[in-house]
Amino acid sequence: MKTANTMISKEDFRKFLDIEKLKYCFECGICTASCSMAELLGKDYNPRALLEEILLNPEEVINSYQLWLCAWCYRCYRRCPQALKVPEIFSFLKSKAVENGHLDPLNVALQKIVKQVPLPTVATLICFHPERAGINKDEILKKMEKMLREYLKEIENKKALTSASRHKIAVIGSGPAGLTVAFELAKEGYNVTVFESLPEVGGMLRKCIPKYRLPRNVLANEIQFLRELGVEIRTGVKIGRDLGFSDLFKEGYKIVFIGSGAHRTKKIKIEGESLKGVVYALDFLWNVNSGTIEEILKKVVIIGGGNVAVDAARTAMELGAEEVTILYRRSREEMPANPWEVKEIEDLGVRIQFLVAPKKIIGVNGKVSAIECVRMQLGEPDETGRRKPIPIEGSEFKQEVDMIILAIGEIPNVEFLPREIELNENGTVWTNPVTMETSLKGVFAGGDVVTGPATVIEAIAAGKRAAESIKKYLKS
Ligand SMILES: Cc1cc2nc3c(=O)[nH]c(=O)nc-3n(C[C@H](O)[C@H](O)[C@H](O)COP(=O)(O)OP(=O)(O)OC[C@H]3O[C@@H](n4cnc5c(N)ncnc54)[C@H](O)[C@@H]3O)c2cc1C
Repeated sequence: MKTANTMISKEDFRKFLDIEKLKYCFECGICTASCSMAELLGKDYNPRALLEEILLNPEEVINSYQLWLCAWCYRCYRRCPQALKVPEIFSFLKSKAVENGHLDPLNVALQKIVKQVPLPTVATLICFHPERAGINKDEILKKMEKMLREYLKEIENKKALTSASRHKIAVIGSGPAGLTVAFELAKEGYNVTVFESLPEVGGMLRKCIPKYRLPRNVLANEIQFLRELGVEIRTGVKIGRDLGFSDLFKEGYKIVFIGSGAHRTKKIKIEGESLKGVVYALDFLWNVNSGTIEEILKKVVIIGGGNVAVDAARTAMELGAEEVTILYRRSREEMPANPWEVKEIEDLGVRIQFLVAPKKIIGVNGKVSAIECVRMQLGEPDETGRRKPIPIEGSEFKQEVDMIILAIGEIPNVEFLPREIELNENGTVWTNPVTMETSLKGVFAGGDVVTGPATVIEAIAAGKRAAESIKKYLKS
């Protein structure tokens, strides 16, 4: 490793050890064990070892490509016994690297992403966020597209040497999990067809993630690469409606991969939920993404505290809402949305009311006009490990509102699956955690349909794990 000719001031370092609690790391390794990037990159990425190196020699770490491989999913933070915010720790050093012109390590990281992470340009915009360290996004994309073209040539050459497989593989869902399986198998010559119920390809990447975060041409390029590899994508085909699940086997598919995500919105079950002006966040974002909503009402309230709530709030602001408020029933500490995205929407003017829950939605002539809320306090931890919100009696208050967006969570829609496929208690699909095979032979699953709503990088990692198992299964 080169020695960095830069200095992190002692004061900077001390502050950062305190704020980000790095000094409390006891090197248990849970961060690495839970990290999807460590799974995707193997020995090329080890966050625990990098944390140790930061403590011993922060100046050297500025020259490490590993710093650029954190996908900001906060999985490590949620599992860390010391609640260390590893992405923030790496972020601090990345900005120091940029300040001091140490950009070679970033190029090495981009090469690794291109070669080892399917959908690399999408993942860079949605997961890696080099722009947060001050790097120009467009330049990165240009560089990556060139690397990707070269890599695809390499793949094509290798593919020409492998005898094309007779096996037909069906993938249900064109989100990151399904597209990863398609990519990993197609590049080895397997015959893959992706079935997508929507008219467009990309799963949540296309349906709900706002355009300002993922420009459509970036997703379109990645999909084009897949088509060039020989993947057939059939949009507007809903398995269970247009084609039965078991018909896939009758049509000669040897393997089915279920990557159908979590698209059913949970109901809030309070009075007034069906009033005009009350919408579900996924529908709202899909309508905006497909151009059906172009402007918005004045006062918007969003209920929920996850990334979907944050995206809905930001989208409402961008559409011109005068007042956007998020109501979240726990405190900032428990909020599942990424902390930096929360800060960004607050800077844009979104108000977040913590420890507040909706009680009743009030309407006039069938249309929402106000919301009645109650203040909460936190009790003992519940089954999710977070402190349970408890209503404070007599603290009810009303707030005028023109539109309410419900973002309280999503669950998978599994009605189209045969009964032999076992489900977990929470309605997600059960899989063998190592092979990703379901309880039905030859049927694999991964992504949000297995984990519940998670992240792009987790869906990609699951897709890659499933593709490896499928290859072994077909060879056995
Ligand atoms: C608003 C929003 C913002 C997000 N922001 C981020 C973020 O910033 N970073 C991040 O990492 N993650 C983010 N996520 C989460 C991320 O998008 C998901 O975790 C990821 O897309 C899951 O991938 P998947 O392949 O499992 O499923 P999905 O992406 O949900 O794709 C599943 C696909 O299957 C299709 N399908 C379902 N049933 C059928 C059927 N019967 N027949 C045919 N097709 C079917 C669906 O139409 C869909 O296209 C966000 C999610 C949302 C909703």
